[in-house]
Amino acid sequence: MQVLKFGGTSVGKPERMHSVAEIITRDEEPKIVVLSALSGTTNALVSIGESLASDDKIAAQEKIDNLRSHYDAFLFDLLSTDAKREEAKSIIDEHFEFFGITLKISFNEALNRDILAQGELMSTKLFTLYLQEKGINAALLPALEFMRTNEEGEPDLDKIQSLLKAKLEDFEGVPLFITQGYICKNYKGEIDNLQRGGSDYSASLIGAAVNAQNIQIWTDIDGMHNNDPRVVDKTFPIAELSFDEAAELAYFGAKILHPASIWPAQKTGIPVKLLNTMQPDAKGTVISNATNSDDVKALAAKDGITAIKIKSTRMLLAYGFLRKVFEIFEKYKTPIDMITTSEVAVSVTIDDNSNLEKIKKELLQFGQVEVDTNQTIICVVGNFVAERKGIVHKIFDSLADIPIRMISYGGSRHNISLLTDRSQKEASLKKLNEHLFGL
Ligand code: ADP
Ligand code: ASP
Ligand code: MG
Repeated sequence: MQVLKFGGTSVGKPERMHSVAEIITRDEEPKIVVLSALSGTTNALVSIGESLASDDKIAAQEKIDNLRSHYDAFLFDLLSTDAKREEAKSIIDEHFEFFGITLKISFNEALNRDILAQGELMSTKLFTLYLQEKGINAALLPALEFMRTNEEGEPDLDKIQSLLKAKLEDFEGVPLFITQGYICKNYKGEIDNLQRGGSDYSASLIGAAVNAQNIQIWTDIDGMHNNDPRVVDKTFPIAELSFDEAAELAYFGAKILHPASIWPAQKTGIPVKLLNTMQPDAKGTVISNATNSDDVKALAAKDGITAIKIKSTRMLLAYGFLRKVFEIFEKYKTPIDMITTSEVAVSVTIDDNSNLEKIKKELLQFGQVEVDTNQTIICVVGNFVAERKGIVHKIFDSLADIPIRMISYGGSRHNISLLTDRSQKEASLKKLNEHLFGL
């Protein structure tokens, strides 16, 4: 079995969906195809939810109407027979009846998550109709019947595996399955999701659950590039990455992969390929257990970081101090990304500010607390062995003109992280690109 995931831009136009059908029928291998919502849909759904949350029903209605027009035009160009167009129209009607109801009932978070799920539900149904029209034997596998998260909001891989296996047994002999990325049910049985960009995570979880031969992430670029192509002009695709390197890049801002999408594949040793729907024959990137060359592979940047410095002359050297500090972050379920210590202070960074004020208040018992928001982590990823000289020197040299707030090196052999103000992000990525890659 292979698992192929196609992102929003890969299904965002009718002709792109036609190309996806070609890609998935190039060979006879059995496949599970995971689709995102059409590009722009999830953003539109977020925006509809915001209007409903602020009780602006007129704005919500207008956004729903715009989305409806988009789907009407889309299904007309996707399909060519009147019969299938009618079928598609009645499916889309049902989803918009649901949107109509959301305008009449009271808004809450569970309803919002239900709204967010509509994009993937519609894209997969439309695509399945197109495959039927083409006479391709495929079955729609509802993700809400097997994707599960636990009380922590984390995917429950064992449950996903048993539910999915049972589901697949219902369809013996079917070579092709279409399912939704992103959406799931939580431990309360409510509709939920794996956070924005979560279809990559769905694909990796499904791949691990069925012990797939490989997991293919099809997107709008020819693999993981050495730097963020949205920020830097000259970038190039990387042919091979290790799971550790890819996980660091995804976690530290390489948007091509959802931050958590590597662990299920890594745990089961299933290679992940990053491929381009617009250039299906381009080599892309292969992510696997193999490691090659001790060198810098790529850069990534993660915005929205807050740095917190706790200064305490009395307590810092005492054992148990760091534990007490960490316990506060644990209490508020706030992960720490970077950490540095000195004799009188400890600095940490977080990317979730939802409990910042409460955390700050509790930290004040240890001494002075300084908070800087709007920071960016610049992450240099590669396979750095301590014996190899010169990397740190090159990085510092490149960033001679950039004010650096924190540095973390040695936590893993794959990552050197630097913290700067958000305003320094572009310059930092460009300078590092010049010095580390000669571009
Ligand atoms: P999809 O809709 O297919 O999930 P995304 O927009 O989530 O696609 O991810 C693909 C985008 O990730 C690319 O178009 C690119 O702009 C962005 N990106 C950011 N960093 C990188 C990187 N290092 N390599 C490749 N793409 C990257
Ligand atoms: N449609 C969802 C989003 O836009 C999930 C995904 O595309 O991966 O975030
Ligand atoms: Mg994505």
